[in-house]
Amino acid sequence: MSKLYDVIVIGAGPGGMTAALYASRANLSVLMLDRGIYGGQMNNTAAVENYPGFSSILGPELGQKMYDGATQFGAEYAYGNVTDVQDEGGVKTVTTDEDTYRALAVIIATGAEHRKLGIPGEESYGGRGVSYCAVCDGAFFKNREVVVIGGGDSAVEEGLYLTGLASKVTVIHRRDQLRAQKIIQQRAFANEKMSFIWNAQVEEVVGDDNKVTGVRYRDKVTGEETTVPAAGVFIYVGIKPLTDSFKHLGVLDDAGWIPTDELMATKVPGIFAIGDVRAKTLRQITTAVGEGGQAGQSAFNYLQGLQDATLQDGAVPAAQ
Ligand code: FAD
Ligand code: NAP
Repeated sequence: MSKLYDVIVIGAGPGGMTAALYASRANLSVLMLDRGIYGGQMNNTAAVENYPGFSSILGPELGQKMYDGATQFGAEYAYGNVTDVQDEGGVKTVTTDEDTYRALAVIIATGAEHRKLGIPGEESYGGRGVSYCAVCDGAFFKNREVVVIGGGDSAVEEGLYLTGLASKVTVIHRRDQLRAQKIIQQRAFANEKMSFIWNAQVEEVVGDDNKVTGVRYRDKVTGEETTVPAAGVFIYVGIKPLTDSFKHLGVLDDAGWIPTDELMATKVPGIFAIGDVRAKTLRQITTAVGEGGQAGQSAFNYLQGLQDATLQDGAVPAAQ
């Protein structure tokens, strides 16, 4: 039978890595599982300017620092795409594509992924001009014109990043006002390489079969259709929770996010949720790490409770 961990953390983004740090520093045995590169969404972020202690730091660099911190007290890390979590008699079984792991507590920190627009050309030009990651793909469009779709923090901030590479960045937004934070908006409006198309319904990513050549949109006020020339299209229209593997636990809300109490506890005893997967309003690195710290401590308290109950029953606590 596989080793029984105290805690398994599913997802090694900022939330998961902080939970692992707190739990392992409290002397619990901890395994972090991730199906990608540790760091989570920070790997797709150029400069992070709102994480305390750093005036500006590259997302992947912050991810590496958090990983070093998370593993220094013995937390283990393994690759694994988690497909199922079962809770039988308090012991949680976590199944990945290749392995099965066991733990007394589980912290779900699987974050979120980008939403798709679902328009013609989006899928067929994927990897041939359509991208969801400016940091990953921006360099392909050096001195070319690109379009960014969306009006939130991601669209505007990543659009600003692209102005350092592309000759022109056109942001197409469905309303006449941005959702992005004011400071990011101010920078965007002051940037000569950036322009905006407002009240626009994006209809299609157009191309010449091999590559993207532009984006067709409809003006929602006049109804007029226009095609903006572009070699690259960066789509930032929001995020959706990565919670399919936890549906059967009954811990999701109608939109797929996971509600918790202030201790990060879900409806299921010993299963906690943190970071972008949680039902909440502010999805940031700072909020993910704050919740990670709380969940690490909550897992410790939960295990103490289990041990106290076992001792009261006169039984020997489960061997690790
Ligand atoms: P994530 O960072 O999403 O990490 C989740 C991890 O779980 C991933 O590594 C993923 O591979 C893993 N995972 C998912 N499903 C599974 C599974 N089934 N099995 C195993 N592993 C799984 N926030 C800021 O504060 N400042 C910024 O400047 C900033 N810039 C951003 C720029 C962009 C382009 C984006 C997209 C987001 C930005 N954010 C920023 C938001 C911030 O990145 C997120 O709020 C934060 O990363 C959430 O952390 P998390 O730990 O909850 O999840
Ligand atoms: P978001 O805040 O949800 O913004 C999504 C944007 O896409 C909105 O402007 C929305 O328009 C638009 N949109 C949604 N569906 C659309 C559709 N079908 N067609 C066209 N446009 C559509 O998502 P995000 O910008 O990816 O940010 C996700 C989270 O990460 C947020 O919590 C954000 O604060 C955080 N983040 C933070 C930073 C930072 O702190 N520096 C940077 C990036 C991200 P409407 O405005 O009309 O709704």
